[in-house]
Amino acid sequence: MIVVLLGPPGVGKGTQAERAAARFGWRHLSTGELLRDEVVRGTPLGQQANVYMLRGELVPDAVMVDMVAEALANVPEDAMVLLDGFPRTLPQAQALAAKAPGGGIRLALYFHAPDAVLVQRLLGRGRPDDTQEVVERRLAVYRQNTEPLVAHYRNLGMLRPIQADRPVDAIQNEMTAILQEALVAR
Ligand code: AMP
Repeated sequence: MIVVLLGPPGVGKGTQAERAAARFGWRHLSTGELLRDEVVRGTPLGQQANVYMLRGELVPDAVMVDMVAEALANVPEDAMVLLDGFPRTLPQAQALAAKAPGGGIRLALYFHAPDAVLVQRLLGRGRPDDTQEVVERRLAVYRQNTEPLVAHYRNLGMLRPIQADRPVDAIQNEMTAILQEALVAR
């Protein structure tokens, strides 16, 4: 089962996914982490992507769709995959719906928190793309390109909102309860 983790940068979905994956043996697939790995290894893809990442812009859809298709091809059909940071655009969502193995996507967890909380968290992290200027750009890019996916998945009946300005444990419990339930129902 592939579950989409949707939400603005800094909302904490990566932290939650990592924790849940470690506890239950699920896969955490973060496109941001895959890209940062390419950057560190200095691959052509990494060098190309880094230009966008450092500006807070999105890496082109075609690059991302190929990257995720390849990553998903290496995952067993019955695995629980927490897809973090993808899709970020409608074309990415459509590509995923068409290509995802094992019956596609049935669930999108939507992590939400007020902007002030997001900005505070992002500026405290210290990643190269966490400067004030880039953070503002990333939030604007999120609003314009990614936020429409909230309505998209809501219209498909797949959206489960999670209030993310709460203690980490409370969010983790709510998230894993939803996912355990979905696993039982599949
Ligand atoms: P993240 O770790 O999810 O915040 O991603 C860091 C950066 O990687 C983003 O600001 C984008 O530049 C790039 N990125 C990650 N995932 C995607 C995606 N699905 N589509 C386009 N760009 C992405």
